Amino acid sequence: MKLDVQTLLVVMMINMIALSIAIPTIMGWRVSVAARHAQGALISQTVGWICLVLAGGASDRLLSTTAVAGLSLGLALLWQSMRGWLGLRPGGRLVWSLAVLTPLGYGIGFHSYPFRSGWSNFGLALQMATVCVALMWPAPQASRRWRLIMVASLGALAVATAWRGVLGAFFTEIYPTLRTPHPVNLVAALLSNLTVVINAVGLLVAWREEAERALRSLARTDSLTGLLNRRALQDEATALIAQARRHGDLVTVLLIDLDRFKQINDSRGHDSGDRALCLVAALLQAAMRRGDLVARWGGEEFCVVLARGGGQAGAAFDQRLRSALAERSMSELGFPLGFSTGMTTLQTGDDSLQALLHRADHALYAAKGAGRGRLVVAGQDSHLPRTAPAKRAADPRPTEPAALI
Ligand code: GH3
Ligand code: MG
Ligand code: MG
Repeated sequence: MKLDVQTLLVVMMINMIALSIAIPTIMGWRVSVAARHAQGALISQTVGWICLVLAGGASDRLLSTTAVAGLSLGLALLWQSMRGWLGLRPGGRLVWSLAVLTPLGYGIGFHSYPFRSGWSNFGLALQMATVCVALMWPAPQASRRWRLIMVASLGALAVATAWRGVLGAFFTEIYPTLRTPHPVNLVAALLSNLTVVINAVGLLVAWREEAERALRSLARTDSLTGLLNRRALQDEATALIAQARRHGDLVTVLLIDLDRFKQINDSRGHDSGDRALCLVAALLQAAMRRGDLVARWGGEEFCVVLARGGGQAGAAFDQRLRSALAERSMSELGFPLGFSTGMTTLQTGDDSLQALLHRADHALYAAKGAGRGRLVVAGQDSHLPRTAPAKRAADPRPTEPAALI
């Protein structure tokens, strides 16, 4: 069997044109930035291959330089899509500098075949290697299989491309043109075809993983406030409590219920109620520390789990939230908004989140009974008064004397 380089290049160009139409058609145009970069990579490489085939024996300076620019920009965009899908990656500056320098050097040094062949092939090979590093750099949220397959084909193509650069630059007599049927050139042309197929599969899998992550996150998020929903908090708090029990850490749970919220809905409308819920959610997020959990537990009820924090941390959290809400509710909502809190701390007999929630709920009930707008502590936290002082300004209605549980 005799393989002809020109035929392989034309097949490659046809494959690229087909993929750069098929993949954006499958994905659609309303996609993430990473997917957009991947589509851009395909289109840029397709332009590169069309110019390469049209350039014939690579004697046309403009077409050949555009071809190198298209291929090089395509690789930089491929790196960028990996940056979007896999998180921070090394090599961004290198791959983008090469996207400028490779075609620039090729265009300037076009008159010398050994220079332009060596320069462009080395530049492209280095870019491919940088994309391989980006693919293999740890990314806990992405599966390794598609990344490994992409690295295998792109890595092999990088080696063949660099080798072609060595031939062009230093052994010009055995590789005098892009169409020379030298085995290295044939292998590089075959690997290009293989890599484009593998890359297309890899990009589609990366895109599917992105959609799965988005769906998972959607299933765990409250759509109005953006906080965790009840199920997500239960999952995460169960793990957090198990770890705290192993290490002997403190954990505090606060159940926060907005006071007389039905009245707000009735008198000011449901939209005002929704805005109030969003404000409380934003203040809760501002008050939490790294590692804490905050969720919308039910309609106008929120649950906070403080990691490595006892009763004092819980009372401080409640106070921070109370002060922030007292300060912001009038200016941002146009009416005062208050809440009641039931709080409890992990105790030795607690075997699950349920036990803590049960006590916190009981304390919350007591806070409501005691006149609202206050924190009531359940359990045996000796550092705190069992009922913290009420912050009357935050409650739309005057509160009654505090009750103890
Ligand atoms: P209390 O001080 O005893 O907690 O009184 P309350 O009025 O807050 O308690 P209740 O449980 O009677 O009312 C809760 C209200 O929260 C009823 C419901 O209309 C409202 N609510 C629940 N979810 C939403 C929501 O997503 N948006 C809005 N605007 N209101 C909601
Ligand atoms: Mg309420
Ligand atoms: Mg309620």
